[in-house]
Formats: sequence, C-alpha cells, structure tokens
Amino acid sequence: MPQWNCGCENCREARRAGGSVVPRTQESVAVSADGAAWFLLNVSPEVRAQIESFPSLWPRDRRHSPLAGLLLTNGDLDHCLGLLSLRESYPLAVYATESVRSGFTSENVLYRTLDRFAGQVTWRTLALGQEQQLGDSPLTVTAVGTPGKLPLHLEGRRAPGPDDNVGLLIRDNRTGKSLAYFSGVAGPSTEQVQAVSAADLVFFDGTFWSSDELIAAGLGTRRAEEMAHWPVGGADGSLPFLSRLRGRRVLIHINNTNPILRADSAERRAVEAGGVEIAADGLELTL
Ligand SMILES: [Zn+2]
Ligand SMILES: [Zn+2]
Repeated sequence: MPQWNCGCENCREARRAGGSVVPRTQESVAVSADGAAWFLLNVSPEVRAQIESFPSLWPRDRRHSPLAGLLLTNGDLDHCLGLLSLRESYPLAVYATESVRSGFTSENVLYRTLDRFAGQVTWRTLALGQEQQLGDSPLTVTAVGTPGKLPLHLEGRRAPGPDDNVGLLIRDNRTGKSLAYFSGVAGPSTEQVQAVSAADLVFFDGTFWSSDELIAAGLGTRRAEEMAHWPVGGADGSLPFLSRLRGRRVLIHINNTNPILRADSAERRAVEAGGVEIAADGLELTL
C-alpha cells in the first residue's frame, strides 16, 4: 500500500504527506516463543525490507539468521515470492502443504537458486489437521483447511484440492496460548471457525470490504468471492463473525482499495466498533 500502478483514492492518500492512509508493506507475520528463534508466516516480496525493519530478525553472527522456519499458507506470489529473495546460501526450513510445495517447486526454473546445495531448503509437510512441532521450539503448528483457491499462475494447470489453501494454528506448549493466522479466506468452514474461535489472537483476511469493491472502483471485473476472499462488510461478511470472538482480532492482507485503510472512513469505524483491529507494519503483540 500504495500499489505501484494504482492511483485510486486510497493509494493517492497513502502517497500524500499527512494523508489519511498509512503506507504498508505486503502482509507477513513473525512469531517467536523466546525472541531468539523466529518463524515467518508467509514470505512476502518485501521480506528483505521487513527483516531490516525489525532488529530481532537481524543476524547475530557473520553468517546467521534468527529465521528458524518459513510457513506458507498457499501458493500466491505475495506469500511465496520472498523465498527467492532469501537465496543467499543459507539453510531454510519451509513448512507447506504438499500442494503448495509442488506448486512452487515444479517446473520453476527460478527455484534452482534455492537448490544449489544439499539442505539449502528442507521442506516440512503440513498435513491438514495434524499438529507438529516448529523446529525445536515450544511452538506447534496445525494447518487448518480453509476455503481458498489455487494461485492464479496454476489455474487450469492442475486440479484444485483441499490443501491449496490453509490457515495456521500456532500454539505455545508452555502457556497453552494460541494464535490463528488466516490470511486468505474465501468463506467460513467448520474447522476454520473452530480454530479461530478458540484462539487468543486471530489474524484474519481483510482483503476486501465488499464483494464488488474492484468493480465499483473501475479497477477490475472480479468479485471478492471469485478471488477467494470473504468480504469484511455486510450482513454476510466476516465482521459479524469476528465481532463475536473472545480473542484479540486483527485484520491483515488488506487490499489497497479497502476503505478500512482510511482513518476517517465509516467502514473503519464499523470495524473498530466490532472490537477488531487493523494491522500496520511494526505491530508487535505479546501473548
Ligand atoms: Zn489503489
Ligand atoms: Zn495474498
């Protein structure tokens, strides 16, 4: 935010000094149990700048990274492309479903840059509904099946499946506290509602406020649902659902056209009245 080729009202505000929209990088969350080992939830194309903006992610030796694992929720490029930016010969542990792994690696000549020596990338399979430990940390992750779709570049190339898109439930074994991370949600599902309802902290898909947001702005032809995003607003939107939850709730993955980005909008007031927050770069939360 702003989007490089967009001159919509929000993007213009984001470029204006003192405007009503705060610029943001593409969505990614870093999680740690001890402040030493960190896990990235999705790896955005802006990962390098995001690492540099947060000293806890800086190297502690001449060749070192506190990044102990990278977790992918689907194959969309805004969630995976940053992997290629981490190509400077350092071992990476990447957690993804089999569909997301093969979608990123097969027929992808650029992936060879992450496959230059044995152990450069260790893939750890996320199986739906199965809790597994994150590295040797006290954290566990469970991939939760959630409605979504294949990334654009794979549409028509393979059949869609249930592990194309997941949410993540991260739990701290010492405290029992949990975090639900659902950055791409096409609509509700039983597993997703269960995971989100029980979590102490929820990061949830806030891509669009309304179904016809892009169409109404003259910026696209597809409705939010066709792009596998559950709109926040309206009687059937995610906001009524999120408003009923007990944990702390933060909207993430917000498209540049979404009116909730404007500090003075009615939509922003509606979100805040529902007890839901809007993510911004640098937001730090402790459970
Ligand atoms: Zn825009
Ligand atoms: Zn995305």
